[in-house]
Amino acid sequence: MEDRILGLHHITAIASDAQRNFDFYAKVLGLRFLKKTVNFDDPGTYHFYFGDEIGSAGTILTFFPWTHIKAGRRGTGQATEIGYSVPAGSFDFWLKRFDEHNVVYNKPSERFGELYLPFLDPDGLKLELIVPKNPDPRVPWTTDAVPAEVALRGFHNVTLTLTSQQGTAAVLTELFGYTLTEQHVNRYRYVTDTVPAAAIVDLVEVPGEAQGVVAGGSVHHVAFRVKDDAMLMRVRQRVAERGLNITPWIDRQYFHSLYFREPGGVLFELATDNPGFLVDEPLAELGTHLLLPPQHEPRRQQIVAQLPPIV
Ligand code: ZN
Repeated sequence: MEDRILGLHHITAIASDAQRNFDFYAKVLGLRFLKKTVNFDDPGTYHFYFGDEIGSAGTILTFFPWTHIKAGRRGTGQATEIGYSVPAGSFDFWLKRFDEHNVVYNKPSERFGELYLPFLDPDGLKLELIVPKNPDPRVPWTTDAVPAEVALRGFHNVTLTLTSQQGTAAVLTELFGYTLTEQHVNRYRYVTDTVPAAAIVDLVEVPGEAQGVVAGGSVHHVAFRVKDDAMLMRVRQRVAERGLNITPWIDRQYFHSLYFREPGGVLFELATDNPGFLVDEPLAELGTHLLLPPQHEPRRQQIVAQLPPIV
């Protein structure tokens, strides 16, 4: 198949309190705070980006923090778990750190031959630290509190919960070039070999489960990586030919995007590598300025006045 998808690009979720969200991901988990901007469609709200040093595809988790948003509900038609890869032997460090920071977690367990440690972010978003079968080659961002030997490498997988996995599986295999590699009970693992990491999508089929509610503590959309604009538009054509509604090309400042809802109900995005996060800040200063896209720059003063300060 031509134009196979290059794994995950980013995942976007919803938080409530902005400061609490920043503290958890940048301080407790030790991810790089890559970019502080606003929701381009709702510029009175922040858009935070966390990832590795330069914001490589497959490491980027983004949040819309809406202060007064209600809690969402996990259910079908949603991405329900985000898995980060960590080195073997790092769980002792993380269990101690979770205790120190009152993080809610469950005891480590094993799935598809990989140890994982499930935990929740402050809004109840389900996350996992996973020790992948094959060591993860990615270089992590590190902090004084979270050194390289335990630091998060980026995404290992994302899990989608569905009433039926069939339609979603067809998108992954026939349009994106993923392959079903493993199945256990109602969990189906789809993998692409186009990239060494962030290559896994797990589909969990729960026929009787109620539809989830996307709000605080839930995933808004899952973005898959394409190389460039030419590939983006070729994939757009294929998605449209299957009868799925897909948006026109959208400039997201750090990447170019298309969105469509896959048959299982999850909002998918396709996002390019270009132009990347250095387009409006140098590498050493990523995340240190409040950045607005050109269309919102004239209203900077009013926008800043609406945003809670982050320290
Ligand atoms: Zn996105």
